[in-house]
Amino acid sequence: MNLPGRHLLLLTLGLLLLTGCGAARQTRIHHSQLLSFGTLVDISLWDASPEQIENAERIIHDELHAMHHDWHAWQPGPLTETNQQLRGGEWFVCPPAILPLIVQAKQLYQRSGGLFNPAIGQLVALWGFHSDTLPKGPPPPKEAIASLVARKPGMDAIVIDGQRIRSTNPAVQLDFGAFAKGYAVDRIIEKLIANGIGNAIINAGGDLRAIGRHGDRPWRIGIRNPRGPGVLAGIELSGDESVFTSGDYERFFRYRGKRYHHIIDPRTGYPARGVTSVTVIHDNAATADAAATALFVAGPEEWHPIARRMGIKYVMVVDDKGRIHMNPAMARRIQFESEQKPEVVLSKPL
Ligand code: AMP
Ligand code: MG
Repeated sequence: MNLPGRHLLLLTLGLLLLTGCGAARQTRIHHSQLLSFGTLVDISLWDASPEQIENAERIIHDELHAMHHDWHAWQPGPLTETNQQLRGGEWFVCPPAILPLIVQAKQLYQRSGGLFNPAIGQLVALWGFHSDTLPKGPPPPKEAIASLVARKPGMDAIVIDGQRIRSTNPAVQLDFGAFAKGYAVDRIIEKLIANGIGNAIINAGGDLRAIGRHGDRPWRIGIRNPRGPGVLAGIELSGDESVFTSGDYERFFRYRGKRYHHIIDPRTGYPARGVTSVTVIHDNAATADAAATALFVAGPEEWHPIARRMGIKYVMVVDDKGRIHMNPAMARRIQFESEQKPEVVLSKPL
């Protein structure tokens, strides 16, 4: 997720409907954009009634509101309250908006070998990314990074007993930035389905989940080029699939010619190296989101075993030399857009 980049500036705008559905019924495709609490969401619906369109926009608005209020890592709300309590180490009743995320995040943390680690909120804050504006550098002192890494914050330190939780490690501070958007997209899709909507794409800044089809053909989407404008590749989606990308271009600063971005390797405390973007396709959006972040951290050498552990079947890793690492099933689906085909490194099947 890229919460803060487009975030606060637009907060006061609340819900802004940018485009309407004028010709929607004639073409049977409805496109609109919602700018809600700083997150721009593209909605595509096939064959939806005006009532369903209205419901969809309300559902999306409500979910994004919940996401920004409940799960914000630095503005006061349920997550900052939870973090304060976790520091104390005592049992407390976890806010209901937070508990299910902790449960799911603990599983994803385990399956990612700790590379998806939403317990490293203090490290993300130390790098200056818990702010509505991007840091300018310099990077934090290496001693401060090393001492936080040595305290080993991890999701396994959070113990759950019914509605109550506690942390056995006071260095644990939650930051759901790597999977809250996926979690919210899953909830939106569930509610759309409950409203009888069977053919839709919910695209939040390039991260999306698609259900059904675009009439008699599959949905087609583009994956952004991490270095430059435009689209790197296109892909057709079938049935119910989520496509999530983590990139070093989303939130970063430059200092003395070096790029420092927001995806932190919990093992070193530094921004993960070797990768510019990772795209994952999976049925569940929260898992796809967490996996994209974890595989970014794993890098070009280690992504394959972690993807396997997380049950991911389609991965594309763009490394810092511009080479594209993919498993064969992903390679069969990817259609490169530019004339010049990039160098592709095929992995073993997942
Ligand atoms: P994403 O764009 O989904 O890869 O999420 C990146 C965001 O997740 C960052 O802005 C941080 O808030 C948080 N984050 C950074 N590194 C990690 C990590 N290794 N595990 C979990 N969350 C992280
Ligand atoms: Mg992610």
